[in-house]
Amino acid sequence: MPTPAPPLPAAEPLTVMGAGLVGSLLSLYLARRGHPVQVFERRADPRRAGFQEGRSINLALSDRGWRALEGVGVADDIRRVGIPMTGRVMHDPQGALTRQPYGQEGQAIYSVNRGHLNRRLLDLAEAQPNVRLRFGQQCLGIDLKARTLHLRDAATQQEHPAPYARLFGTDGAFSAVRGALQKTDRYDYSQDYLEYGYKELTIEAGPDGAWQLEKNALHIWPRGQYLMIALPNLDGSFNCTLYFPFEGPESFAALQTPADVADFFARVFPDAVPLMPRLTTEYFHNPTSSLVTIRCFPWKHADDVLLLGDASHAIVPFYGQGMNAGFEDCSVLNELLDRLGDAAWPAVFAEFQTQRKPNADAMADLALYNFAEMRDRVADPRFLLQKKIEAKIAAQYPGRWTPLYSQVTFSHTPYAEAWAAGQRQDAVMARLMPHIHTEADFDQPAVQAQLAQELAG
Ligand SMILES: Cc1cc2nc3c(=O)[nH]c(=O)nc-3n(C[C@H](O)[C@H](O)[C@H](O)COP(=O)(O)OP(=O)(O)OC[C@H]3O[C@@H](n4cnc5c(N)ncnc54)[C@H](O)[C@@H]3O)c2cc1C
Repeated sequence: MPTPAPPLPAAEPLTVMGAGLVGSLLSLYLARRGHPVQVFERRADPRRAGFQEGRSINLALSDRGWRALEGVGVADDIRRVGIPMTGRVMHDPQGALTRQPYGQEGQAIYSVNRGHLNRRLLDLAEAQPNVRLRFGQQCLGIDLKARTLHLRDAATQQEHPAPYARLFGTDGAFSAVRGALQKTDRYDYSQDYLEYGYKELTIEAGPDGAWQLEKNALHIWPRGQYLMIALPNLDGSFNCTLYFPFEGPESFAALQTPADVADFFARVFPDAVPLMPRLTTEYFHNPTSSLVTIRCFPWKHADDVLLLGDASHAIVPFYGQGMNAGFEDCSVLNELLDRLGDAAWPAVFAEFQTQRKPNADAMADLALYNFAEMRDRVADPRFLLQKKIEAKIAAQYPGRWTPLYSQVTFSHTPYAEAWAAGQRQDAVMARLMPHIHTEADFDQPAVQAQLAQELAG
């Protein structure tokens, strides 16, 4: 039997608020389905000269993000300007290095430039005849009953109303669209700040644009209560991010002068300092930003407003999944439209939030869990031994044991399922590891018997 033709999309215009990573990808998905789309964005067009990039210059893109990009045919284009990172390289306080692969041979996460990705998605969205991008339009508020946006035009400073038929809030962690939903009855909302902030710094390229650290790796300087990471750029430099307490003896508050910064870095990150000639200038010039987890529900209002991306689930960056989760929102919405039809918005919105909310909550928990792993556990030889043993278990029991990191990063298993499986596996490892002191112990008959018993249960 031939597959029935999908129902024709309704001709109503769809409104997307926020043309960041998720909003620009979502616009592309909606436009490719035949919907007229208008997009409002507070900032100026990032493709125009003189535009200042915002936070975090490069991001780790992994399988969930790739699949969403493949869905609109842009993955190959982005892959060409991404740098595969096949593992983590830990730098200890003496500068000694330890490498831990992220997955199996051939698996990698990619360092991609946020600005490039956003500009490319905007180019593709704009190339659709049914997309209208409007920059310099800040949403100040929304009348949900009258379905009217209250916007301010940055060029004229004039405020003006704009009606909408269906609105997608992709305006980030401090979403104005969510702000309107928060004023409705029985709206659940929480925001939790870490007592840590972050600051971006740079490891310079070497002579002739050479990478001064291993290029195909994410570098970590784990220091127990804080950490620095570095992701490679195409020009040979690395973007570093220092995740550091706001207050305390070793904190942003404690480093007040260029001498404080230089002394501290020389003591705790000695191998990085010679590669960071602009350290003190950047330290005092670049902002210190905060880290927040935002949870809210519902993500829809009536049948005409839906939140996606950071607007509904902002998370801390330690699993490198915020953008990937927001991109997965776009794939899931697209799949629901395929399944339920483009005219079935009420059912699509309802199913979307039912499916995505538990997964977003699990991802928020995973991101917090990984903070302790990155700043502390990766420096512990026992932890690294455990990871090697887990890789052996995965090889011995394919399909029955997938390390948590791989489930989150290299699979499309719903985050909530991955997190539950990861917790079960952690419990198994807690029972197994007391009997394992070296990699060779894994082959001991008693260890193998215990493992077989654990996995049979
Ligand atoms: C330090 C750091 C590192 C990170 N690293 C990673 C990583 O490695 N991998 C990963 O997957 N994720 C990472 N993330 C998370 C990622 O940055 C976010 O999840 C992602 O940017 C969310 O995209 P978004 O489009 O939902 O929101 P945003 O990127 O915040 O975009 C929102 C857009 O809406 C616009 N806007 C906001 N308010 C209004 C308004 N009132 N009116 C009109 N427009 C408005 C903004 O100008 C912006 O363009 C990181 C985050 C941080 C902070």
